[in-house]
Amino acid sequence: MFSRKRAIRELRKDQQAATELLQALPEMPLPQDPATTAGSATGGPAASEPAAQVDDFLPPDLRVPSRDELAGMMMRYDKPLVIDGEVRSCPQCGAYRDWVLLSVRDEVWLRCRAGHETLEPRLDPAWYNRNSGPMDRWHPTLEDGLKHLGH
Ligand SMILES: [Zn+2]
Repeated sequence: MFSRKRAIRELRKDQQAATELLQALPEMPLPQDPATTAGSATGGPAASEPAAQVDDFLPPDLRVPSRDELAGMMMRYDKPLVIDGEVRSCPQCGAYRDWVLLSVRDEVWLRCRAGHETLEPRLDPAWYNRNSGPMDRWHPTLEDGLKHLGH
């Protein structure tokens, strides 16, 4: 025969077991939670994604200077342009002075008064920089720059 006390004790035991089970159960997900947090702490991947975005960011950064280069630099070069001891003249109209020199990317272009543009492979940005003054102005367009330079 079960005494009432004993029955209650059994019940409590069952309850305790159930409670332990319940307590254990939430802990099952718990290790998973840290795992998922660790996974997102591997957010490492998440962190490397922003890093990848930073990597993606670099090219645009690099593009900024190259976009400036694309816009190019220009200067007037009124005197005859002597390259390798030879006066450079426009292959299209024969003009040999009143140039606008354009430094675009790694190239230097000659632009005569008539607007003919000729690539001058013997000149490079280093030469351009040696011969140009400091950039004092930024022109939104080539035309604007040319106008400013009187072309
Ligand atoms: Zn010309």
